[in-house]
Amino acid sequence: MNYCSNCGSQNLIQQVPSSDIHTRVICQDCQVVHYSNPKIVTGCLVFHEGKVLLCKRAIAPQKGFWNFPAGFMENKETLQEGAKREVREEVNATVIIKKLHTVYNIMHVDQVYFLFLAELVDGKYSVGEETADVKLFDLEDIPWEQLAFQSNIFALRQYIANPNYEGVHHGDNHAYLRELKA
Ligand SMILES: [Zn+2]
Repeated sequence: MNYCSNCGSQNLIQQVPSSDIHTRVICQDCQVVHYSNPKIVTGCLVFHEGKVLLCKRAIAPQKGFWNFPAGFMENKETLQEGAKREVREEVNATVIIKKLHTVYNIMHVDQVYFLFLAELVDGKYSVGEETADVKLFDLEDIPWEQLAFQSNIFALRQYIANPNYEGVHHGDNHAYLRELKA
């Protein structure tokens, strides 16, 4: 952050405000504290006749890799509306949401994924914006080496291990980050 979004000043400092425990960007001219908090990603594990729908990314990051239709939640929509909107935008499909399946924390980029179990309404889908290809995969044929994100790998593994689980899976990439450092 180079400018205060409240008054335009460049007179910004990093400090822990009184009654806080985190370092914040504070404007020394108008005294506004600029909070930075995690972003929400919402999306769906879309199933049709026992197969899971994946889209090949046409944009960075992880261009050319497969993932679930998912993206940043917008203001003034619910998590579920956001998840359905992402499916509409990325694969031109309408889904019925069954349940929340996975909550996954991406620690190094401050994002939280909410992934719902969903079914295609009419079996129809096609390539949407930000997507290079879209396909229904048998669970035995999932391209594990070409999945874009740890959140997707985690959710799919959980699904395959226990397809009828009624609870919500919780994960984070702390362990994955430790592996990378080792
Ligand atoms: Zn200011």
